[in-house]
Amino acid sequence: MTTDVLIIGAGIIGAACAEALAARGVHVTIIEQDAIGSGATAAGMGHLVVMDDNAAELALSSYSLALWRELVGAAPARHEYSRCGTIWVAADDEEMAAARAKGETLQANGLACTLLNAAALYEREPALRPGLAGGLLVSGDGLVYPPKSARILLERAMAGGAQLVMGKVSSLLDNGVRLDDGRELRAGAVVLACGARSTALLPELPVQPKKGHVAITDRYPGFIRHQLVELGYIKSAHASSGDSVAFNLQPRPTGQILIGSSRQFGTSDLAVEPAIMARMLRHAAGFTPALAGLNLLRCWTGMRAASPDGLPLIGPHPGRPGLWLATGHEGLGITTSLASAHLLAAQLLNQRPSIAAEPYLPARFAALATLSPRSPLEGVQ
Ligand SMILES: Cc1cc2nc3c(=O)[nH]c(=O)nc-3n(C[C@H](O)[C@H](O)[C@H](O)COP(=O)(O)OP(=O)(O)OC[C@H]3O[C@@H](n4cnc5c(N)ncnc54)[C@H](O)[C@@H]3O)c2cc1C
Repeated sequence: MTTDVLIIGAGIIGAACAEALAARGVHVTIIEQDAIGSGATAAGMGHLVVMDDNAAELALSSYSLALWRELVGAAPARHEYSRCGTIWVAADDEEMAAARAKGETLQANGLACTLLNAAALYEREPALRPGLAGGLLVSGDGLVYPPKSARILLERAMAGGAQLVMGKVSSLLDNGVRLDDGRELRAGAVVLACGARSTALLPELPVQPKKGHVAITDRYPGFIRHQLVELGYIKSAHASSGDSVAFNLQPRPTGQILIGSSRQFGTSDLAVEPAIMARMLRHAAGFTPALAGLNLLRCWTGMRAASPDGLPLIGPHPGRPGLWLATGHEGLGITTSLASAHLLAAQLLNQRPSIAAEPYLPARFAALATLSPRSPLEGVQ
């Protein structure tokens, strides 16, 4: 079988791209060095959340959420999907004003949400500490178990003829790749979907690792019912330097509570850092005091691939013919994977995408656009 497209990386993004391309009749080979759905996909919280910091983020996340609901539709349990909704928790009047503004934006885009006063908030989530102002309930949001979803997407791609090659890509070639065991694979197009590891193959990529800590408890069914996120999260999530933690609590379908998250720049060391973990847990217990009495089972970290403007890079590399990018999804790649794959497939096949592709084109970054056209091989180890 010939390959039209080689995809490097079988995280949620590579797997979604393989599925979208195979469904359109493209012959795909996907290469993975580790387990399917490893990397950030295994570390992430799996919150499917509409984010609206700018119009492009809102367009990508809301379109992707609609695709997720279609995908999980018949078999939600396979993805461990829950349509739990998100409550954006407002601590004070200023954050309540932010909740109101967010609600207006979402409603103007046809997304269901409800402003909650304090009484309505505590009725839904009695474990929250007293004294909060209220919140915004976004009812279309949900959650999946990301490594399972990645495997399901890959199975679908393989049912459509995609091939999986286990191995580590050591360099990019003209219309192909070389693996570290010496094998060379060729195709008309190569898609780089290596998440935070993408810069190892393409050093000019404007993407840096942003480390995150997560912890999970024993089973406490009913402790919370919605994904709870502090409105202050928006500030810390978009900082481009420094360490921060934010309250982000998720009710897993198993009854476990997933606790996130932290954001750190300037490190690619995946070791759990007790000081950051302690800060994150203290902060979470500040919102839900009874959390301090629950058993923690495990904690871990992952690396988000952060781009300078917070949007992913989806489309052709402007200076390297035949090389396509699907990376830089930062803290929203589970949510935006399906829409990203749709955008990539549409561009590769010269089809009209369902949402505008321009905001996510790699050519928006001067570091890539100012490269004179050359083969993928040049300048790459
Ligand atoms: C702590 C944390 C919490 C998060 N929470 C959420 C959330 O709640 N909701 C959300 O939407 N997003 C969340 N994210 C973000 C999300 O997890 C990522 O954006 C997403 O998983 C990125 O997927 P990816 O496929 O691009 O990268 P990855 O999942 O990292 O996959 C890349 C794959 O490429 C493979 N690879 C790399 N280099 C090579 C090579 N040279 N050869 C072969 N294979 C290679 C890797 O082994 C890996 O399997 C979170 C991230 C973190 C770290």
